[in-house]
Amino acid sequence: MFSFIKKSLQAVSSGIQAAFKKLSDRPDAQSLEELETVLLAADLGLDATNAILGEVGNERQKNRSVSDIAKEVLRKRLEGIETPFHFDAGLQTILIVGINGAGKTTTVAKLAANFKAMGRNPLIASADTFRAAANEQLSSWAARAGVPLIESRTGADPAAVAFDALKAAQSRAHDTLIVDTAGRLHNKESLMTELTKIDKAIKKLDSKAPQHRLLVVDATLGLNSLAQAKAFSQAIKLSGLIVTKLDGSAKAGVLVPLFEELKLPVYFVGVGEKIDELKPFVLQEYLEGLLG
Ligand code: GDP
Repeated sequence: MFSFIKKSLQAVSSGIQAAFKKLSDRPDAQSLEELETVLLAADLGLDATNAILGEVGNERQKNRSVSDIAKEVLRKRLEGIETPFHFDAGLQTILIVGINGAGKTTTVAKLAANFKAMGRNPLIASADTFRAAANEQLSSWAARAGVPLIESRTGADPAAVAFDALKAAQSRAHDTLIVDTAGRLHNKESLMTELTKIDKAIKKLDSKAPQHRLLVVDATLGLNSLAQAKAFSQAIKLSGLIVTKLDGSAKAGVLVPLFEELKLPVYFVGVGEKIDELKPFVLQEYLEGLLG
């Protein structure tokens, strides 16, 4: 079956697979060192890289292919990363957070289109009240997705926008509300204050909301995204990740250290700029795409 995830990993996997081949043709210290270099360059992180090298050198593994050994090592380390995105009964509020440029706005629209195609009735809200452009961008995406949008006013209180949006979603009988938030918060305290305010405002209308708090992470940033992800997870209780720009990222191995650090499921991955280029994360496809 054609896999968007596998295809999007071609750039990063060709180097890894060349190193695997070299190591099986000539199993010496130099080939092993070259494998270490490509795994680290893909941002798999030191721990996972060492674990793979350790198993490759393990006498018990000598009849297996390097690719199979590496896949097994990562499959064990990534247990729990693939979890289907779930909806409970009733209106579900999904808060989307992440830094500017990560692909938040695009992802909100893609999610809305995805949910609509599943037969749900989503509403989008823009609580990014810093950037007028973000609102315009979301507005055109929402139109393309055929999903209604509660627009923000520049300078408005994001918590008030989120509150109004949930009220609108309740009164118009939507079953899903996706709230885009601002990414331009320069320190952890202001981030935490703003996201906590939004959380509190929403809870006044629905004590269980938001049912999901998803962090959007840009795969092209590789290990640099790890520090950001940690800052967000310290600021609010995240429930999962969406990793964008998997297509063409030379550092797509970063899902491994991200999961090891945060232990959060990756619900979806972005594999292109088009509205239908957001796919549920499938671990097997990721491992095959990365490691052959
Ligand atoms: P925001 O600032 O976080 O809201 O980010 P945007 O949604 O504006 O996205 C920033 C850029 O990343 C845009 O040019 C998007 O088209 C692009 N982008 C978002 N997701 C993906 C993806 O999965 N793949 C690729 N190739 N580009 C993406």
